[in-house]
Amino acid sequence: MLVILSGVSGAGKDTIKKELIKRMDNVISLPSFTSRKPREGEEEGVQYHFITKKEFEEKIRNNEFYEYDLHHENYYGTSKKLMNEKIASGKIIVKDIEVNGTENLIKLLKNETKLVTIFLRVEKEELRRRLIQRGDNLSEDEINLRLGRLDYEESKINLYDYMIKNDDFEKTVQLIMDIIQAEKKLDEN
Ligand code: 5GP
Repeated sequence: MLVILSGVSGAGKDTIKKELIKRMDNVISLPSFTSRKPREGEEEGVQYHFITKKEFEEKIRNNEFYEYDLHHENYYGTSKKLMNEKIASGKIIVKDIEVNGTENLIKLLKNETKLVTIFLRVEKEELRRRLIQRGDNLSEDEINLRLGRLDYEESKINLYDYMIKNDDFEKTVQLIMDIIQAEKKLDEN
């Protein structure tokens, strides 16, 4: 089963994903490849596999991705090999991916794998506050770029099975855990 978490950068996807992995023993992550530089505290192979733009383009030419996207001027992509290995392990994969990637994965995988798609919403002003607090030292332009992306991501909300307003971390984590348990039961029947 593949659980897709979307929402703009700053909506809390990464923190929620980590918490789900900590609290549920059959849940694992699937790091994407990216050409962006690691943020403070990020480690190779944990949040992402960090590669150069040139290496990423080589992988595109070799058809190594299910999907990839250029997002805030950096590439992000889902490795076919890593995804297939993890799906075969029978675990629940939680993947954090933006809306274009979700749309592609739904098209590619809906007949082969049980998919659960969840969109995390956050208010624009709250998002601005989080982006400033996050410690990435984003410039005003970069913050506005991310805020501008919010409207685009929200325009794709109909793709998703569930939509959660992420204004209370604990409540959101509980809700997603309940969704995962319920969907797993449905899948087993
Ligand atoms: P960030 O740089 O904040 O970690 O991620 C930027 C955006 O890229 C997020 O919306 C994240 O969900 C998205 N993203 C991460 N991995 C992938 C991927 O494999 N494919 C696509 N299309 N987007 C991704």
